[in-house]
Amino acid sequence: MTEHTLTVAGVAVDTRHWIGGRRVASTETFTDVSPIDGGTIGEISRGTAPEAAAAVAAAKAAFPAWAATSRAERARILHAIADGVEKRIEELSIVETTDNGALLRSHRRGVMPRVAHNFRFFADWLLQMEHEDFETRGHTNHVSWDPAGPSVLITPWNAPLMLATWKVAPALAAGNTVVLKPAEWSPLTASLLADIAAEAGLPAGVLNVVQGYGSEIGDALTSHPDVRRISFTGSVPTAQRIAGSAAANLTPLSLELGGKSPLLVFADADLDLAVDLAVEQYDNAGQVCLAATRFLVEESVAEEFTRRFVEKAATLTQGDPRHEATDIGPNIHPRQLEKIDAFVQRALAAGARAVIGGHRNDTQYYAPTLLTDVAQDSEIVQEEVFGPVLTLQTFSTEDEAVRLANDTRFGLAATLATGDPERAERVTAQLVAGTVWVNCFFVRDLQAPFGGSRHSGVGREGGTWSFDFYCDVKNTVTAPNGWKNHG
Ligand code: NAD
Repeated sequence: MTEHTLTVAGVAVDTRHWIGGRRVASTETFTDVSPIDGGTIGEISRGTAPEAAAAVAAAKAAFPAWAATSRAERARILHAIADGVEKRIEELSIVETTDNGALLRSHRRGVMPRVAHNFRFFADWLLQMEHEDFETRGHTNHVSWDPAGPSVLITPWNAPLMLATWKVAPALAAGNTVVLKPAEWSPLTASLLADIAAEAGLPAGVLNVVQGYGSEIGDALTSHPDVRRISFTGSVPTAQRIAGSAAANLTPLSLELGGKSPLLVFADADLDLAVDLAVEQYDNAGQVCLAATRFLVEESVAEEFTRRFVEKAATLTQGDPRHEATDIGPNIHPRQLEKIDAFVQRALAAGARAVIGGHRNDTQYYAPTLLTDVAQDSEIVQEEVFGPVLTLQTFSTEDEAVRLANDTRFGLAATLATGDPERAERVTAQLVAGTVWVNCFFVRDLQAPFGGSRHSGVGREGGTWSFDFYCDVKNTVTAPNGWKNHG
C-alpha cells in the first residue's frame, strides 16, 4: 500500500500509470466519482503529453522482444492473464460496478468471465492461425501475419474492462505492444488489469496503462509517429478528432462508434419475445452502443406491443447496481444525465409523447423512457442519446420498415422480431448494419466480425479480423524452382 493506493469496496487499486513495468505518478490528478451515489472514489494520476511519450517509448522498447516471442509462449501468458482475471472476478466486478454503475450481477456472471474468455480465445486463435498457400503459375504465395508494433487502445466507460480486453487480447496475441488509455469516468479496472498481466509474467513495457482526460493526453498518443495502430471505441466526434490526429502518420485506425439501431417488430412476430427484446434495451441504463433504441412496429400490432411493453417495463427495478434485484442502475455521471434529459425535453417540446418516463428520477438515475409521436427526421430519432430513452414509430409495409431502419447516419446493429424466415432473410439483406439479430439480441461468437457501417465505425474486430488489423499481413511469393541455383 502506498499513498497512491485506493481501497475500493475492499480492493486495493493503484491510481498511478503503469509504464515500462513501473508505477508512475503524475503531479496532477483528476477525481474519480462513483455513479452509484455521486461520491468521490479518489484521485487518479492525470497524464498529459510526457506520460504519453513515456508510455509509447516503453511500448517501442519492448516491441522487438515481444514480437520475437514464440506464438506458444505468447499464448501461454495470455492464458495466465485469463487465469488471473478468473481468480479476481469478484474484485474486478465490485470495482467496475463502483466505478461505472453497471450491474454487479452482470459483471460477476457475464462480463468478467467474458473478459477472461477474450484472452483465452485470442490465445487459442493465435495458435491455429494459418492460411492456405495460393499457387500461381507454380509460384507459392504464402500469407503470414507480422506484428505491427506499438498500438494505442482508447476505450469508453460503458463497459470498461470488457471493451478494453477486446483490443488488448488480440493486440498482445498478435505480438504487438500496447498503450491502453481507459476513459476518465471509469479508469480503475485497467489498473487492476496491469497488475494481473504483470503477475501473469507479461514482460515490462508490453502492456502500458495511462490515465487522463482524452483532451489532454489523447492527441499526444494518437499523433505519435512510433504508434503503428490505433484502436478506438467511443463517440463519433472523438473518432473524427483521432482520425485527424492520426492522419499525419497515416496510422491505421479501427473505430467502434455509436449507433441508433432499430428493433423491427413485424405483425407475424411472437409478441412476448418482441417485448422481451424491447425491454432488454434498458440494460446498463441504456448505455450500450448496440442498443436497439428505435422501435419500428407494424401498425396492426403497435397498440398491443405498446401495452405489453409498458406492463413489462413496470416490473423493472431501478436502483443500486450492487443489489441482486436491480435491473437498471444509475447513469454514469450527472453530466450524462443532463445530456439525456436535454434530449428528452427537446423531443417533448417538439411534440413527442412520453408513454413512460420522460424525466430524471434523481441526480444519478434517469426514468426508463419510451417516446412516441416522433418524426423520422427529428433529433431524438436521428441522434444517439446513450441513456434509457427509446422511441416508437409504426410502419405498414416491409419496404417502409427497411427504409425507416436504414434512415440514420449510423449502421451498427439491427434486431428483427418476425415469425417468417423468408422475411428475415429478405429484410436482413437490405439492412445497413454490422450485426443483425433475428429473434435474439446481444449474442456473438468471438470468431465473428463485429463493427459498424457509416458513422458507426471503420473496420471489424473479432477472430481473423482482429489479427488482420493488428498485423502487417505479408505475402511471400517463392519461384517454382527457387532453390535450383542456391545449393
Ligand atoms: P468518448 O468519445 O467521449 O470517449 C472515449 C474515449 O476517448 C475516452 O477514453 C476518452 O478519454 C477518449 N478521448 C476523448 N477525447 C480524445 C482525444 N482527443 N484523443 C484521444 N482520446 C480521446 O466516448 P464515451 O462517452 O466514453 O463513450 C460513449 C460512446 O462510445 C458512445 O457513442 C457509444 O456508442 C460508443 N461506444 C461504441 C461501442 C462500439 O463497440 N461500437 C462500444 C461502446 C461504446
